[in-house]
Amino acid sequence: MIQTGISLPVMETFYTVQGEGAFAGAPAYFIRLAGCDVGCVWCDVKESWDETLHPMQQVEDLITAVVASGAPLCVITGGEPLMHNLDVLTEGLRKHGIRTHLETSGTQPLTGVWDWITFSPKKFKAPLDEFFTASQELKVIVNHASDLDWAAGHAEKMPTQTMFYLQPEWEKRDRMQSLILDFIRVNTRWRISVQTHKYLGVD
Ligand code: SF4
Repeated sequence: MIQTGISLPVMETFYTVQGEGAFAGAPAYFIRLAGCDVGCVWCDVKESWDETLHPMQQVEDLITAVVASGAPLCVITGGEPLMHNLDVLTEGLRKHGIRTHLETSGTQPLTGVWDWITFSPKKFKAPLDEFFTASQELKVIVNHASDLDWAAGHAEKMPTQTMFYLQPEWEKRDRMQSLILDFIRVNTRWRISVQTHKYLGVD
């Protein structure tokens, strides 16, 4: 049987700080996998969409690089990382005591073993039901006022311990930020997430 997930198309890797959500400020190694079929109009990594433009890398080599960096946690992002089977990568990272964090739009079946799943659904492609219960964090990018009600509708389907974040779309951040602040003053389960890494000027 051919083992899937032993090599993956990688757009970039870098050791930085997590800028968003519950782990904002934590040192984290990022692996950005290529491939995405969601098609968000405001996507800031459109160059990730076509996985054929990015080299395949052996998972073993990726794990070696994460371990060598000394990072305590590894964020697998994209693109949409679940376009690929992530069992081998995440099991390997876990064996080295590295936390595994996923950032996903939830449009593809879940693979991998995870310490933290950030579910970031998009209006451009409906997510699968399993992400409403499997995720620890819901993060909705706010690009329009109507996204606030859309976010609330998703939150209603999630367990009470889930952390809820609203994040201004970067290009519209001034306007969206004030809408979000008004919203969370009333809807106090929610938090605002800002892209800390962009304010810090790091990747
Ligand atoms: S899911 Fe992410 S990578 Fe894919 S189009 Fe949307 S923002 Fe871009």
